[in-house]
Amino acid sequence: METLKKKILEEGIVIDNHILKVDHFLNHQIDPLLTMEMGKAFHQFFQEKKITKILTLEVSGIPSALTTAFYFQVPCLFAKKSKSLTLSQNTYKSQVHSFTKQKDFQIFVDQKFLKPTDKVLIVDDFLANGNALMGLIDLCKQAGANVEGIGIVIEKSFQEGGAKIRKMGIPLLSLAKIKSFQENRVVFEEDEI
Ligand code: 5GP
Repeated sequence: METLKKKILEEGIVIDNHILKVDHFLNHQIDPLLTMEMGKAFHQFFQEKKITKILTLEVSGIPSALTTAFYFQVPCLFAKKSKSLTLSQNTYKSQVHSFTKQKDFQIFVDQKFLKPTDKVLIVDDFLANGNALMGLIDLCKQAGANVEGIGIVIEKSFQEGGAKIRKMGIPLLSLAKIKSFQENRVVFEEDEI
């Protein structure tokens, strides 16, 4: 997605040739038009699938998951990272290792929102080693729901997550694929949309 790549080049900050900070439009402040465009791109790519639910992880996955849900006209469900008093006792639960925080945490989804009849499109902001996605896929597995595809805003393809997901045979669309960081500058793959 050219507008996304342009935005990354203009406003992204690479930290230690390792982490891309995109607080200007994705992870802190949010660009609504660009986020609508992301949702449209995911919808266009996966529209043949009979998606019934968009699943993401709070917090940074929510904006692009919501605009995707808007185009599909289906609910957007986000896994929670803490078990509040308002969350029911009947939850699916999984464990995720956070790449940016370097610690494990649990994720939860109320069982009433994920059913064996669901055809799920998972949407998230970044794909690095694939741990967040593995947790979300595990929640779907527990519910008996089918993961029809995965939409990622920014894939860092020099990390192992993308290869892991493709090996599992799940269709994956990444709107921007980063091949490497060189001297704290972003180098994109050629084949992204
Ligand atoms: P994974 O679980 O695939 O290793 O990492 C994905 C999660 O880690 C994303 O949901 C995102 O929150 C975070 N993450 C991974 N790499 C980056 C990065 O370069 N920049 C930012 N801002 N977040 C990242």
